[in-house]
Amino acid sequence: MSDVLSHSSDAIKEILNSIGVGLIVVNRRQLITLWNGWIEKHSGVPSTNAIGKDISQAFSELPSAAFVSAISNTINYGLPVVLSNALHRSPLALYDRNFEHQGKRIQQSISLTPINIDGERHCLIQVTDSSTSIKREKILRTHSELLKKEATTDGLTGIYNRRFFDEHFRMALAQAVRQSTPLSIFMVDIDFFKQFNDVYGHIAGDKALIAVATALKKQLQRVSDVIARYGGEEFVLMLPNMQHDSASQFAEKLRLAVWDLHIFHEESDIDQQVTISIGYSTFSGVESCDPYALLGTADNALYNAKRSGKNRSVFLSYQPSNEQNATIL
Ligand code: GH3
Ligand code: MG
Ligand code: MG
Repeated sequence: MSDVLSHSSDAIKEILNSIGVGLIVVNRRQLITLWNGWIEKHSGVPSTNAIGKDISQAFSELPSAAFVSAISNTINYGLPVVLSNALHRSPLALYDRNFEHQGKRIQQSISLTPINIDGERHCLIQVTDSSTSIKREKILRTHSELLKKEATTDGLTGIYNRRFFDEHFRMALAQAVRQSTPLSIFMVDIDFFKQFNDVYGHIAGDKALIAVATALKKQLQRVSDVIARYGGEEFVLMLPNMQHDSASQFAEKLRLAVWDLHIFHEESDIDQQVTISIGYSTFSGVESCDPYALLGTADNALYNAKRSGKNRSVFLSYQPSNEQNATIL
């Protein structure tokens, strides 16, 4: 402070005008007594026009009401105020280049400090450009959302991956137990898919996987329904609030959705096209439930569907396990 005071008042003026922060001082009557170079540059209002004016009349557009009332608080009660830039993005008409109407409005961080000049309380207004930090924050946020999405999504088909499913399934099942509501689970596997790859190649195999995943996903209607890629050519679907009889209809809907794609597969024993087998089971909502046992039941049902000829859906009823090592939700 003493270093600053050792300069002449012209030097101090020069410093205030060159600093990369907006500085305004207003007196008790809210009349402007200081308007530095930064404010001049970004408002387009020369200090000669601003000095002596009421702060609410000085800019090309009215400042926000929150800004004007914050000044009153600072002056009347001697309280420092910070205008959060999450709530008040750009309270003042300040633009990012020499005042051009087409210039972008600066996002501002504003702090108001009570100061004493010649025995009278004034308000020092400091304005900084927060556009870059807001932009950086936005980029970081988008990046972290993207990473989160990548961590839970299957790269090939775009549906959820097994990691997401495992986590979500446990939560959904715990909720079904708490609320005594049913939950149906479907394991889906593409038939003769090794031969499909052998005959048409891996790229065609990938395309078929995408088409099947998309067709299956289209059958889901509620936000709580989930489909995930469980492994190579295997999918799992979880539908809360679905009882056994609706589950039977739904399993057939899945099978027909893939059938209707009519993806040619000359090596398939089933009508020369890509088909799926489905195993499914339902937790009725009345007993406690072991998530592994429920998945295991659906998997056994899938095995039965394969063994009994493929291109079909098979139901196995879930028997709650009494084994000590079972995880009970
Ligand atoms: P089944 O009818 O009994 O299910 O026989 P399958 O041939 O479908 O089953 P198998 O487990 O023998 O072979 C699965 C094949 O799925 C083998 C593998 O090449 C293919 N596969 C797994 N993941 C992918 C993938 O990401 N892309 C492609 N193109 N093929 C895959
Ligand atoms: Mg398989
Ligand atoms: Mg298969």
